[in-house]
Amino acid sequence: MIDTNEPVDHYPADAPASQELFDRAAAIVPGGVNSPVRAFRAVGGVPRFMVRGEGPWLFDADGRRYVDLVCSWGPLLLGHAHPEVVAAIQAAATRGTSFGTPTPGEVELAEELVGRTAAEQIRLVNSGTEATMSAIRLARGFTGRTKIVKFAGCYHGHVDALLAAAGSGVATLALPDTPGVTGAGASETIVLPYNDLAAVEQAFTAYGAEIAAIITEAAAGNMGVVAPLPGFNAGLAEIAHRHGALLIVDEVMTGFRVSRSGWHGLEPVDADLWTFGKVMGGGLPAAAFGGRTEVMSRLAPAGPVYQAGTLSGNPLACAAGLATLRLADDALYARLDATAATIGELASKALAEAGVPHRLATAGSMFSIFFTDAEVRDYDGAKTQDVGAFRAFFHSMLARGVYLPPSAYESWFVSGAIGEEALDHIARALPHAARAAAAA
Ligand SMILES: *Cc1c(COP(=O)(O)O)cnc(C)c1O
Repeated sequence: MIDTNEPVDHYPADAPASQELFDRAAAIVPGGVNSPVRAFRAVGGVPRFMVRGEGPWLFDADGRRYVDLVCSWGPLLLGHAHPEVVAAIQAAATRGTSFGTPTPGEVELAEELVGRTAAEQIRLVNSGTEATMSAIRLARGFTGRTKIVKFAGCYHGHVDALLAAAGSGVATLALPDTPGVTGAGASETIVLPYNDLAAVEQAFTAYGAEIAAIITEAAAGNMGVVAPLPGFNAGLAEIAHRHGALLIVDEVMTGFRVSRSGWHGLEPVDADLWTFGKVMGGGLPAAAFGGRTEVMSRLAPAGPVYQAGTLSGNPLACAAGLATLRLADDALYARLDATAATIGELASKALAEAGVPHRLATAGSMFSIFFTDAEVRDYDGAKTQDVGAFRAFFHSMLARGVYLPPSAYESWFVSGAIGEEALDHIARALPHAARAAAAA
């Protein structure tokens, strides 16, 4: 039995070593970070600079230890510095870091992806953004059409055309729009409410002959977690195909995280293209897009649609991804499901006991807590949250050594490295954090 009254770590609110690094960074890096959500703007306070990770734990520059429920925003399925992944990277580095030629590792990683998904052909790239950008270009090249349908609150990387109503990072910063994206770039994008097939039908009635593709997250995880309603993804495939458009399912977050085949393993959908990233790079930069051969064969050099990358299929990234995926068997996924369910239930119970209105939202082992009474099925629902309550909850967890995503609009991620000790640590922190949220 866990004694929730037992004292746990309680770190001070300031973090001098992180503060010093953040000040240095802020002088020469915009906002002090290389990706906006890392700056803690949504929760306030000093972003923690991490110096080391080991299994379920992160260690910051002030020597404090945290259970990691961000897992590098999804990639670290096995936790930090898994010995077999580290060994694979070291072995690959010893053989040379990049050749700019085809390599065996790329073939093996592509075969692994094809073996796990419905994609018949794969092209490797370096980031999820590149994957969705390239998939959209290919869909436009294949159909000869221009318009793209996306859903409010779905994030597909910082591709110009997809930065309209893009959830998480953008929602976190509450940017009214994104300067630098031209009107022309955004005008070909139709933004619709998530989980609303009637809105999709209407858009296709109006613009059907101009729409190249619908892009959707396999299960939304960038406005907090919002699972697709039963029939939503299948309905998208049906509508798109009826109008000669393609369906692009973005599995950058869900892919190889929620099952060995990603969301496709839980709910097979007749898509034309898929995008992957995060887990498939094992913590190094690797991503991919893939799909039906008929579509993929339009890519250069097989076809006319140009796409390229100096470091695409990088040997280290392929080695890390392969090592990770080869350890990602059904037993690991069962463990991730159980761990996520335990943490979600513990959090929900603590919040209920403290009287904090909330909704536990799940999509496989991805989950998040919405600090609202309302049922959340789209971005408008997600935005009913009490972000002040989340902020208090977040900082209380952080002070007690649990690292949550620093935004109410992000999924929480578990790893296979979370065991009894880490679970215990989370369980003992939660009642304090729930009471802090109630008092906020
Ligand atoms: C993270 C993410 C991306 C972008 O991937 P990057 O590697 O950050 O460019 C795209 N789509 C989804 C669904 C994501 O979660």
